[in-house]
Amino acid sequence: PKYVYTWGAGKADGNGTMKELLGGKGANLAEMTRIGLPVPAGFTITTEVCTYYYANKRSYPKELEAQMQAGIANMEKVMGHKFGDAKGFPLLVAVRSGARDSMPGMMDTILNLGLNDDTVRSLENATGNARFAWDCYRRFVQMYGDVVLGVQKREGEDHEPFESVIEHYKQEAYGRDIVDSDLTAKDQQELVKRFKALVKERTGKVFPHDPWAQLRGAAGAVFGSWMNDRAIVYRRKYNIPSEWGTAVNVQAMVFGNTGESSGSGVAFTRNPANGENEFYGEFLVNAQGEDVVAGVRTPEPVSKLKAVMPKAYAELLKVRKILEKHFKDVQDVEFTIQEGTLYMLQTRNGKRTAAAALKFAADMVKERLIDWKTAVQRNPADQLEQLLAPIFDLAEIKKAKAIATGLPAGPGAASGKIYFNADRAVEAAEKGEKVLLVRIETSPEDLRGMIAAEGILTARGGVSSHAALVARQMGKVCVCGAADIQIDYERRIATVKGQSFAEGDFLSIDGTAGTVYAGQIPTAPSEIIDGLLNNNKAAQKTEKFKNYVQLMEWCKKATKLKVRTNADTPEQTAQALAFGAEGIGLTRTEHMFFEGDRIDAMREMILADNRAAREAALAKLLPYQRKDFFGIFKALKGFPATIRLLDPPLHEFLPHSKEQQLDFSKKIGVPVEKVMARVHELHEFNPMLGFRGCRLGVKYPEITRMQIRAILEAAAEATQKGFKAKPEIMIPLVGFKKELDQQVALVHEIAADIQKEKKVKLSYQVGTMIEVPRGALTADEIAETAEFFSFGTNDLTQTTLGMSRDDSGSFLGAYQESEIMPKNPFASIDQSGVGQLMEIAIEKARRTRPDIKLGICGEHGGDPESVKFCHKIGLAYVSCSPYRVPVARLAAAQAAL
Ligand code: PEP
Ligand code: MG
Repeated sequence: PKYVYTWGAGKADGNGTMKELLGGKGANLAEMTRIGLPVPAGFTITTEVCTYYYANKRSYPKELEAQMQAGIANMEKVMGHKFGDAKGFPLLVAVRSGARDSMPGMMDTILNLGLNDDTVRSLENATGNARFAWDCYRRFVQMYGDVVLGVQKREGEDHEPFESVIEHYKQEAYGRDIVDSDLTAKDQQELVKRFKALVKERTGKVFPHDPWAQLRGAAGAVFGSWMNDRAIVYRRKYNIPSEWGTAVNVQAMVFGNTGESSGSGVAFTRNPANGENEFYGEFLVNAQGEDVVAGVRTPEPVSKLKAVMPKAYAELLKVRKILEKHFKDVQDVEFTIQEGTLYMLQTRNGKRTAAAALKFAADMVKERLIDWKTAVQRNPADQLEQLLAPIFDLAEIKKAKAIATGLPAGPGAASGKIYFNADRAVEAAEKGEKVLLVRIETSPEDLRGMIAAEGILTARGGVSSHAALVARQMGKVCVCGAADIQIDYERRIATVKGQSFAEGDFLSIDGTAGTVYAGQIPTAPSEIIDGLLNNNKAAQKTEKFKNYVQLMEWCKKATKLKVRTNADTPEQTAQALAFGAEGIGLTRTEHMFFEGDRIDAMREMILADNRAAREAALAKLLPYQRKDFFGIFKALKGFPATIRLLDPPLHEFLPHSKEQQLDFSKKIGVPVEKVMARVHELHEFNPMLGFRGCRLGVKYPEITRMQIRAILEAAAEATQKGFKAKPEIMIPLVGFKKELDQQVALVHEIAADIQKEKKVKLSYQVGTMIEVPRGALTADEIAETAEFFSFGTNDLTQTTLGMSRDDSGSFLGAYQESEIMPKNPFASIDQSGVGQLMEIAIEKARRTRPDIKLGICGEHGGDPESVKFCHKIGLAYVSCSPYRVPVARLAAAQAAL
């Protein structure tokens, strides 16, 4: 089999479509080579080798060695240099990991591989530049020692061991700290010696001299890094299966560090933070690529390259155009300029904020680069919520005190208690605090903390630093490189212009402007929310708002699946309609019982000893419910409303603390002993599997009667007042046809009464939730009575998996960690288990009732993956909370395209 794919001099074995095999980086290097861009030659070792490596006790297929030799031979031919050449200019290579998608936390890059005590001399001779040669060698030993040989910070050590050696040496030789670029060739030579001694001391290993041994070691380190902790954390967060594996890219070195006519940079073909159509990035003169991302020296904006290296800059602008035209998407590139000549080292689709994605897509349709369908696909559904994220209240911001500015790296507004370390940030967030992670700079180790935080603030680093990239991708608010802030990790204090902030103090950051504020600042809704929900005219005139509206119009054109909402009040209903919901998929009537005094009537009902007393209490509840339902029908403007009858165990409505019980007994004049006795009586060991759902209505039909009366009287009133009400009465937790039959009989009986009393014709439906496995399996029988099904996937997941909705948090993390389940099944449908039950239910139900209306109202209705699944299995609608309606609409459209 072919394990090595080469590229160089305009030809490539692979191409841009081969990401599974070659990884994203390798596939695109091949593609760039094919379209004639200046790419230094190289080869990719495929992801299949990674799979082989782990399946075979970390060993390689026997064909690999010969294929790598052929790969190196090809590079030697194209570049005109020999690997390990101790006489002429030696071929040096960079070794990089390359999964399908780039993955922070994996081994990044080893540069200048192929140098040793002999080849460094030949490099020195060939270039006549000793400082350059030894600088390369010193960097190589350091990177290789760290990444491949594992010389890293030990517990209790403050500094990286190699950096400590450098600091020591500077003090010894110069008596002070000097910048790295002032180190002479001799200094570098001495450092190489000391680094090797350090490697020997820490690992017992001799630094490898043979370039081939170096190359094998580096490739092994890349494959090994696929299973390191940071990579695993990242994969879990983004649901990347471990089977994918990574590729290894070996590429001929070009040098950005040969002097003032060389340099390295990174750039986006458009602004990935706000979406502006401007070339956006940064570069450093006389530097290797790693220097730009490492944040040690602060890079210059890429536009300044025009003044320093006009020819290379013009070339780069040309490449920018070619790339966008070819890939039809915004690209994120790495480049090196060696002695005035431009080389492209990488291109990939640029990560972007939701705001940028929206603008890119809208602009590119106008520029005729893509069509509207592609534009819909280009907006990641799981990021859309970012667009609805709050911004700082403008009035408050005028009063607020800006204490520092940094780079606007992740848009939005965040306010929170500051924590200087990821673990403490996670801990605080788990306690429910809003947290800002504040770091001098971030590394992949901080990932957990970044996930937990509302926002991220760093003192160092540019827009392409780790903090910025990861924050943008996660949709976190981020300000980086706020250099005025001094952070003391030891004392857990941040100081800025004489003012100090201790851990736990509030700061606020504006990731759109890059500003840092003292204290807590209230946030305001985004323009989209303001435009849609508050009808704010100024907001409606913004480009963002218009692009959003356009996107939703495109979605409407594509969509098959309708989106409804889970709403319990007229306000929520109105919001959801403004977001484009077409009706209510679930009203949880029990939520209404917690408002105002109603809970008292509810409790009276529960305490009642006999039916008459229960009915008396229910009679007090009836007008409340009727009013609620009327409000909802009115807000719905003719859209249908699925209203569910009482579902939770009665126990949940009773007062539980001693104090509350006393209060309540006084209020309604029953002895507290009686209240306590009833609480005790209703206590259940497994309330979720207990006396709830339709079981309540089976035992206490008067509850059902009251609710049906309230719903249908409200509908009658609506009809009399001249607007349409379309109630769909839904019976929960049905597992037996007879349970449903009994409740439905009550509905029809009461409906007949009301039609007679009010002299109106009601149009209503009765259906059920499918949320226990028996209901799904006997769907053909149940569909004889039910006019519609709504899948209650919260309970269906709980009962199918036998995992409590409320108590599974304690072990689900471990389940995902060990990849037993790829995702939290309560957030994203377990397609092969729960999903299969849904498919069975659909198939059976349609046998009985071909045109049965099918929907979903569990939390999964707002999860993009689950929405796509619902489309696939042929549901008519999904229902989700109001703020997730846009997400569901986008996912539904994407599923249909
Ligand atoms: C469900 O079980 O999925 C559902 C929507 O009902 P609830 O969450 O109220 O149990
Ligand atoms: Mg349920």
